[in-house]
Amino acid sequence: MGSGKTFSNDHGGQPLLGLEAADSYECPMCRHGQIQQMALMDAYACSFCRHIFDVNLAGQTVHVVDGLQPMGWRWQGRRWQPIYQGGSEVALTLWLVGGVLVIFPAGLVALGGYMFPPLAQNVGVKNAGINWSVAWAIGTLAAHGTMVGWLMAEHYQLPIYVLAKIRLQRFLARLPA
Ligand SMILES: [Zn+2]
Repeated sequence: MGSGKTFSNDHGGQPLLGLEAADSYECPMCRHGQIQQMALMDAYACSFCRHIFDVNLAGQTVHVVDGLQPMGWRWQGRRWQPIYQGGSEVALTLWLVGGVLVIFPAGLVALGGYMFPPLAQNVGVKNAGINWSVAWAIGTLAAHGTMVGWLMAEHYQLPIYVLAKIRLQRFLARLPA
């Protein structure tokens, strides 16, 4: 029947949701390792990504201490819920710049192809059926989309991205120098 942790909230000020110092929990950062209290310390550490978390038992929250962004999560009994805090201006700028980076160059390429279509005599038989300006626009969109996607993953520290990054680092570390 899963965990026997209670989910009531009637005990007045007691930490109830099951985030307890002695337990271990799925790491909210990589969603792969387990976070556990470090010996003689108030902090938790992940067994996989090795990130360190500051724990607030009263608030049932953890905050990553050694991360690039100030990220926090609230324990919901079974899973972590991200706490969005500060940095919203950074996020807004990122989304704006990201949107422009994705749409503008691809739009420009598409517009160029539309305004200056390839001359008829340059379009050989082997190119028949392929609209190169559209192909270029899609290519540009994909390239910039990948770039912006990477920026977003880095900013939000998406678990799948964190996991892939650590796997890659460990793989590279095993290669002979
Ligand atoms: Zn982890």
